[in-house]
Amino acid sequence: MIWKSINQLADDIKTGKTTAVELTKQALQLIEDNSEYNALITINPKALEVAEEIDRKLNDGEQLGVLAGIPYIAKDNFLTRGLRTTAASNILDNFIPPNDAVAIQKLNKAGAILVAKSNLDSFAHGSSTENSDMGPTLNPHDKLRVPGGSSGGSAAAVVLGLAPFALGTDTGGSIRLPASFTGSVGYKPTYGLVSRFGVVAMASSTDVIGPIANSVEDVALVLDVISGRDPLDSTTIERDEMHYSDFTAELKGKKIGVISEYMGDGLEDDVRASVESALNIAKETGATVSEVSMPQLQSALAVYYIVMPAEVSSNLSRYDGIRYGHSSEAAQKIDEVYELSRTEGFNDEVKRRIMVGTYVLSSGYYDAFYKKAQQVRTLLIKEFTKAFESFDYLIGPTSPTTAFKLGENTDDPLKMYLADIMTVSANLVGVPAISIPCGKDGKGLPIGLQIMAPQRHDRDLLSVANVLEQKLEYNS
Ligand code: GLN
Repeated sequence: MIWKSINQLADDIKTGKTTAVELTKQALQLIEDNSEYNALITINPKALEVAEEIDRKLNDGEQLGVLAGIPYIAKDNFLTRGLRTTAASNILDNFIPPNDAVAIQKLNKAGAILVAKSNLDSFAHGSSTENSDMGPTLNPHDKLRVPGGSSGGSAAAVVLGLAPFALGTDTGGSIRLPASFTGSVGYKPTYGLVSRFGVVAMASSTDVIGPIANSVEDVALVLDVISGRDPLDSTTIERDEMHYSDFTAELKGKKIGVISEYMGDGLEDDVRASVESALNIAKETGATVSEVSMPQLQSALAVYYIVMPAEVSSNLSRYDGIRYGHSSEAAQKIDEVYELSRTEGFNDEVKRRIMVGTYVLSSGYYDAFYKKAQQVRTLLIKEFTKAFESFDYLIGPTSPTTAFKLGENTDDPLKMYLADIMTVSANLVGVPAISIPCGKDGKGLPIGLQIMAPQRHDRDLLSVANVLEQKLEYNS
């Protein structure tokens, strides 16, 4: 691990051992040294200026909190005022936002320093970061493999040390899958805990914002700053009164349900072995661990790949070549502006989702697909509610496999969608979920452990994840 923990860095700043400028210079140097991984899309040219300002404020005795002077990276679907925001799509190639996303505003106000914007699957549509119009990001553990997606740039950036933490978004697994594939910690909070205002919308009923970092403690510190009700996002909820980094919940005495559907066929042997050894550690720590069958989970992927494109098709209608973003120069008439701008600006995967979404919402098919999917989603919610009557936490792998090879799944969208089989349920149900590294496979590729908790139990979830993380001794 290249960076000390955020708490240690904050201490170093407080005691004058380092400064915001020094940390920012270190981040910028590492960014320059690691450009071959293509983890980033844009570097913030003002980062050093901002760092100088933070040092000035700290010298003047202003109280800014633990993130003051800490460099960070945001996925390029967070609007950043005056700094290009592309969502890795050609249609937004030239887009300079007039405002910051609320999460960015909160981090900047707390004194964190935005050093760069990271790569993603275009509009966050994908599981490998290969759908990016800016080229794929490479996995820091093996350059021939994907870092997972869609927040692959953020996760790779954290592991390469380009900043101590990064922001991602998770609509169906996009924080947890890249965390699992790169050996970082990825946190998807309860739906609504972090304002989505100013983040490029994908599927509004499952979109969540969260941090990726080197430890559970670090993600909790970031969550403390970005969470809470926001009048600009009516789906937001109140945050906990206590700090998310106050890890008071213990693992001892807790009831853990191991999802049997996640431990069945199709799981790589090394993944199974690592997850089982993590479960043994949980038992030794005093938790009770038993299997729970959740048969409804087998429909989760199908439900997600109907509900998500339906919402995508609606959210992406705003990219019309008129309001902002790419506008086709070949267009002669008004309808050609729409048609050609979208034809030229969207890649195949984005178009596929708009078409599937439009289809499942169209008259005659709405009841058969969209409505049915929402009904099954309700069954899934009920199944989780029932499971959480007997268990405090649900556990399984984050993904059935470790990082796959670049190009391995690109010709077959269905194969690519299967990478999300263990992550989409938490989004459909709205519960918090974390991926922490729990070992490596025979090829030296990281394996992720996923833990889920009931809605609003974020602090408990982070507490027990922290306990397990300490015992797992994963070496990056
Ligand atoms: N991989 C999933 C998809 O392709 C999830 C994406 C996400 O969470 N943004 O839709």
